[in-house]
Amino acid sequence: MTSATHVDVPLLDLKAQYATIRSEIEPAVQEVLESQVFIGGPKVAEFECRCAGYLDVPYTVGNSSGSDALILALDALGVGPGDEVIVPTYTFFSTAGSVSRVGATPVFVDIDPTTYQIDPDSIRRVLAGRKPGAVKALMPVHLFGQAADLDAIMAIADEHDLRVVEDAAQAFGTEDVRGRRVGSVGDIGTFSFFPSKNLGGFGDGGLCTTRDEALAERMIRFRNHGMKPKYFHHDVGLNARLDALQAAILLVKIEHLDAWSAGRQANATWYDEAFAAAGAATSGVSLDEGGLPLRTPEPAPVGARHIYNQYVLRVPGSHRDAIRETLKAARIGNEVYYPRCLHEQDCYRDLGHQAGDFPNAERASRETIAIPIFPELTESQRQHVVDTVLASIRAI
Ligand SMILES: *Cc1c(COP(=O)(O)O)cnc(C)c1O
Repeated sequence: MTSATHVDVPLLDLKAQYATIRSEIEPAVQEVLESQVFIGGPKVAEFECRCAGYLDVPYTVGNSSGSDALILALDALGVGPGDEVIVPTYTFFSTAGSVSRVGATPVFVDIDPTTYQIDPDSIRRVLAGRKPGAVKALMPVHLFGQAADLDAIMAIADEHDLRVVEDAAQAFGTEDVRGRRVGSVGDIGTFSFFPSKNLGGFGDGGLCTTRDEALAERMIRFRNHGMKPKYFHHDVGLNARLDALQAAILLVKIEHLDAWSAGRQANATWYDEAFAAAGAATSGVSLDEGGLPLRTPEPAPVGARHIYNQYVLRVPGSHRDAIRETLKAARIGNEVYYPRCLHEQDCYRDLGHQAGDFPNAERASRETIAIPIFPELTESQRQHVVDTVLASIRAI
């Protein structure tokens, strides 16, 4: 092999990113250390305000993680035992886990095979088979940094009187086809600052967004034991607050986010062109239609902003794991989001689903691979990724 095999390409290189912002982060952290204010306080308030501006919403509620953000959202909307909540089966676990944690029941639906986003037709089919009033809320996920079909989702919610929680954990700064920042459209939006997300902290963190002042007040109470004023409890809340250290770090990082998103988009375009030149189609063309057995992500529709939290390829399922092994041997980081759909997880066995219930999601879980897309990727790293993927695809 050529010398290109000596290029290491991690899935995400947070050290490379830190090197570019160390001189800004260190004084921001130092300031919090000197203040000795660690929970809430002015840094958290400043960060919430900055996020409100960035995400185009009047109210934001910083909290402890993207998972807790979902729980706070459902609690604030009054979702609980006896309620059903519609969620895609192809997402990170928290989307459904939060529903179960508040005592409600997740109702799974399939995804669109081209975009991997929640499929509005699948939602309509599920609602047609339920008693009116059983389903209380709808939780679209803006998967991989691309917007779900918010127009269709809001229309369904209107028609069936459902609350909408947008799980935007992978989509800070994503815009839908009408140019709306995700998280600003439904009743509540939720975000995660887990270190690997496009806006990641140095630990756990999360955020809720809303246009409704009463919902914001409830989430502010719930994140701090349902307490207001101190030691007087309206509701049973949780300890789900945002640390001042995380807020200070995220305040530095958010100023770089647009440049990082542009870097991810440029890398995606570079990959799209390199794979297309080798004969790959986009994910709108089924693998069953032949050609080179490789599909690149469907580009965002005109007007939308895809921030490429992940760049996901589709390959034949019977070869996917061998391709992953080849990438690993070439020291190229890769991941499968997600190898098992939620309706097939052990903890949801009692919901009675079986293989074949959600064919698009199940097929995606067998056929997808995420490759490195982080903004600091160099051209030789990208070339190494493309050469290695193409060599392993041609060897099929
Ligand atoms: C990461 C993620 C979460 C959970 O966020 P944490 O901060 O890790 O709790 C929820 N939903 C989706 C879609 C995610 O990707």
